[in-house]
Amino acid sequence: MSADTALMPIPGTVDPVPVHRAGAPPRADGRVELVGKSKEAIRAALADAGLEPKQAKLRAKQIWHWIYNRGVSDFAAMTDIAKAQHGWLAERFAITRPDVVEAQVSNDGTRKWLLKTHDGHEFEMVFIPDADRGTLCVSSQVGCTLNCRFCHTGTMALVRNLEPAEIVGQVMLARDALGEWPKPGEENHGAEGRMLTNIVMMGMGEPLYNFDNVRDALKIVMDGDGLGLSKRRITLSTSGVVPMMEKAGEEIGVNLAVSLHAVTKEVRDEIVPLNRKYGIEELLSACAAYPGANNARRITFEYVMLKDKNDSDADARELVRLIKAYKLPAKVNLIPFNPWPGAAYECSTPERIRAFSGIVFDAGISAPVRTPRGRDIDAACGQLKTAAEKKRRSEVLNAGE
Ligand code: SAH
Ligand code: SF4
Repeated sequence: MSADTALMPIPGTVDPVPVHRAGAPPRADGRVELVGKSKEAIRAALADAGLEPKQAKLRAKQIWHWIYNRGVSDFAAMTDIAKAQHGWLAERFAITRPDVVEAQVSNDGTRKWLLKTHDGHEFEMVFIPDADRGTLCVSSQVGCTLNCRFCHTGTMALVRNLEPAEIVGQVMLARDALGEWPKPGEENHGAEGRMLTNIVMMGMGEPLYNFDNVRDALKIVMDGDGLGLSKRRITLSTSGVVPMMEKAGEEIGVNLAVSLHAVTKEVRDEIVPLNRKYGIEELLSACAAYPGANNARRITFEYVMLKDKNDSDADARELVRLIKAYKLPAKVNLIPFNPWPGAAYECSTPERIRAFSGIVFDAGISAPVRTPRGRDIDAACGQLKTAAEKKRRSEVLNAGE
């Protein structure tokens, strides 16, 4: 099967739920990728290739350490593994990152990378530096099937799930670029003293439609013996895939963000079509049941500010009412709409956003307005769509179709 037939076209406005979606084909060079594998999976791969059980176990432990604690991608640099074995390993196994097609820096310091999978699919990753933290915005899929009407990613024609290697690989690539691997002799300090301190699963794709790969990748990112980032510094954002939310809390346990964006069925049905499948009541009940949410670890409700669509005082009051009715430990993140060519909406005025925020805040719920970052390089929320896709589209438009 060629790579292209393994891709899923967008099936309609409402995607049918967590169906299995095509993943990556094997590498063209036949080598097995080790990034994204647990220590146990590395052991099994080594044993499959013919290493004695005891050797496989020892080598898995050493290789794991080199990959995740030192950022090494060349077997020849693994000094505690016999030189004679380096070639044997390199013939059979790969330790890679996604390919970098292009790296851009915004005038506000935000960085965006256009990346490519080994089978040629492009996706994006963003790094947002702040005074006291640095947040990496990681993609979970190439494109997205959910077609939210205000989101550029949702207009991408093809979708493929990213593999654990490609998800963990984004974090490793960011560490490469920021020069943040511990030096020999240094311990792995997790986030301490680093530029990359936080991760948000808010890049391209719906993470809960690629649950197993996202879970396996984040387990490695959180493993104290792996990349060592605390679950408190990781946030998973979902547009509301209700049946997967409890499982996410139990099996991943990171902070939850929910893309609510509207408080009435009519408006949410229009802007987040998944709402026709899982309505607001169901979604908020799932939030109330989310394992690990409490007043110290609140659920973030994301709310994109769309002019004359979802931004009235009545909307703000209804938002407060819903949060209180479901007794949700919540904070609200107001996101000014980031425009893209052809989008059907406009951003609310700054006065409207302030008034909305004020109503929510006066009800005792934190409601900061998110400052758009990296808009000049199309790196802001909802602007991610690869250049190749943008170009294809403009070619079609120019051809007058
Ligand atoms: N698919 C997931 C995570 C990725 S999107 C989700 O939808 O939650 C990250 C956030 O950016 C979501 O809250 C999303 O709704 C928001 N977003 C999408 N397009 C946007 C745009 N054009 N302007 C502002 N925010 C946008
Ligand atoms: Fe997909 Fe999230 Fe964009 Fe909706 S907002 S289309 S779920 S990436």
